[in-house]
Amino acid sequence: MYKKNKKILKAALPKIQAAGVQNIINGISLDAQSGETFKNMSPVDGEFISNVAKSDAADIDAAAKASAAAFKAWRDLPYKEKRDIMYAIAAEIEANADLIAVLESYDTGQPIRFMKKAAIRGAANFRYFADKVIDARNGLSTPDTNHLNFTVRQAIGPVGVITPWNTPFMLTTWKIAPALASGCTVVHKPAELSPVTATFLCQLAHKAGLPKGVWNVVHGFGHSAGKALTEHPAIKAIAFIGETKTGSMIMQQGAPTLKRVHLELGGQNPSIVFADADLDRALDSTIFMKYSLNGERCTSNSRLLIEKSVYKDFVAKLVARVKNLKVGNPLDPATEIGPMIGKVHQEKVLSYGKIGVEDGATLLVGSGKPKGKKGCYVNPTLFGDATKNMRISQEEVFGPFLTVIPFETEEEAVEIANSVNYGLTAYIWTKDSAKGHRMALNVESGMVWINSQNVRHLPAPFGGVKNSGIGRDGGEYSFEFYMETKNISVALGDHPIPVLGGM
Ligand code: NAD
Repeated sequence: MYKKNKKILKAALPKIQAAGVQNIINGISLDAQSGETFKNMSPVDGEFISNVAKSDAADIDAAAKASAAAFKAWRDLPYKEKRDIMYAIAAEIEANADLIAVLESYDTGQPIRFMKKAAIRGAANFRYFADKVIDARNGLSTPDTNHLNFTVRQAIGPVGVITPWNTPFMLTTWKIAPALASGCTVVHKPAELSPVTATFLCQLAHKAGLPKGVWNVVHGFGHSAGKALTEHPAIKAIAFIGETKTGSMIMQQGAPTLKRVHLELGGQNPSIVFADADLDRALDSTIFMKYSLNGERCTSNSRLLIEKSVYKDFVAKLVARVKNLKVGNPLDPATEIGPMIGKVHQEKVLSYGKIGVEDGATLLVGSGKPKGKKGCYVNPTLFGDATKNMRISQEEVFGPFLTVIPFETEEEAVEIANSVNYGLTAYIWTKDSAKGHRMALNVESGMVWINSQNVRHLPAPFGGVKNSGIGRDGGEYSFEFYMETKNISVALGDHPIPVLGGM
């Protein structure tokens, strides 16, 4: 498999290097109008991947106009045709899943074992929302005595989608599939650190029969292309995934044009393990939910809250497992942890190794860089004996970095869990059903898993509270964002009408 992945990369890379990563506007691949580009390097080995279109407001304007021009025809396309195009996009993704996974892995450093699944999940997102196209416009009936009231949902218009660099392919499909099913057209601004699969995905969508202008991709930096997208008057809403401080900027930038915003932001999520839990399963899940996807995962449990009576044994097992994690080239199927997305982020994660020691926590495993590796690697890290106010307990490190905090009572567990500004997910481990339910109600987060890792169910709402975001994705919740609800009221007879100025 490793050989096969390297072969796929060897065949694909020269083509990407030669063509560069371009914008796609109105179905046409093109450079930024300024002709400017920026270089995209792989975090795996520092090698050049491609020049990327360095777009600005002029390119965003062209894409926004293309998406506005395409809007009505796409919104009004009979549902069967829309659905079939979305099925065809899913089929294209599946047919190219190996290539997508390899490109994503090389561009982001994410281990191939997870990227294969992420590509297939991208296809699943399109299939799921293709099936929902038929219901997207459905509303409610709210009859009154003299009137029949009913609602319909209508696509809000062209929307902007701004995505981060962690699992960018999957997250892009997650946003764009419901937007298309709603009847919206899209301008997508991918993260500058992981541009490759965004253009490829948009090309596949056109190959699958998507009309021109429905889906446009504009590459560039957040402060120029991203900002221009959030400010453009033709763009009616911004679906954003990224850091909390960027989300706040997006709200400000979008305020003059009254943008609807959906923000999926950072997290500092707890895994709360009680002594009465199935401790082996809790251990597997906590390790998976921190060290999979390089720990660059918004829903990862970055804090392990563990009941004091089992702390010693549990942490001893945790130490052994974290020491055993396989760090390596992400194209190798045996690799469990690849390099961080880039040098700046690598330095950030490394700095928390020092911060943890300064905070007074106990370094149990890792910290620092693995020896002899060229890319942006960090050692999987584990800190114990931490307290809730330490920076390693409060801030989002976004790497393979876990902080362990002991607790004695259920009340204390809730207090520690809720002591952060974030509120995306919580994982609760106990065999006491009532306690599990109480905890689920008391933790401040948008999502809770009891006795489970994050298992995504597409109709279920996904999103955070506090600094982790505003709004929900998934099934009907996505339609609430990408569509407007219109109430239509029909008189059932000659009900009284107040008469003014009567003779
Ligand atoms: P980021 O906020 O730095 O960048 C995300 C995107 O925003 C990029 O495309 C960037 O170019 C763009 N951007 C930056 N400044 C902008 C501006 N002023 N206007 C418009 N766009 C702008 O985030 P990142 O570092 O790429 O991603 C990591 C973050 O994403 C983490 O905090 C992680 O928790 C979060 N995330 C959250 C979820 C979730 O569902 N809650 C999912 C994945 C990632």
